[in-house]
Formats: sequence, C-alpha cells, structure tokens
Amino acid sequence: MSSEPLGGYPDVELPDGFASSTSWERAEREDADVSPVNRVEWMVRVGNGALHRVVFALDGGKPVGECDCLGYKNRGWCTHVAAMYQRYVRQEIEVADVSEPVEAENARLWVKYRRGGQA
Ligand SMILES: [Zn+2]
Repeated sequence: MSSEPLGGYPDVELPDGFASSTSWERAEREDADVSPVNRVEWMVRVGNGALHRVVFALDGGKPVGECDCLGYKNRGWCTHVAAMYQRYVRQEIEVADVSEPVEAENARLWVKYRRGGQA
C-alpha cells in the first residue's frame, strides 16, 4: 500500500486518495467539535453532522484513525478522521502514542503543561 504525503507535513502519510477526497475537503471547510473521551478515543462532530466516536492515536509516531460512521466503514476514511488528522498536523490536539508507556506520556504532558505556565 502506498500513501500520499500531506502538504507541508512530509512526515504524515495518508491513505491513497484521502487528502483529495470530499471527506478531507469538508473537514477543512467546516468547523468541527473535537473532545477527548479517553487516551485514544474522541467524540467528533463536523458541521451540523452527527456525533461520532473516533479512535485516533499514534502508533510508533505514525497517526492511525478509525471511526464508527458509515463513510469510514465503506472507504476506510471519513470526515471525522480527516478532522482529527488536520488538528494533529496543526498541533491543536495532544495525541497519545499507544507504543509509549502511559507513565512516559503523563510525564511528557506534565512537562508540557508546566512549560505553558498554567500550573
Ligand atoms: Zn467518521
């Protein structure tokens, strides 16, 4: 399986056709509500659409996403997963790496939090 690079972010690879899909375009165009449920699950609503549960995480530094919607089931990608990728590459969300021990992740998040001067 080959993949296409995401413009401006050469280290993020997407499934074939994803970056030129209407799902991707819609996620870029419409506002999305993204809220974390736990370490790897998020509730995502794009535009006026339905709320969907998305699994989005890193696996050894590589982003992986999965959604419970019909679009994802049919194509292997969807607007909700696209919205997550877009937030990830813009560094708007903190994404867990499932290959990293939870303790290491917590330590890293703690340092980041302290650096933000909010503690
Ligand atoms: Zn979806």
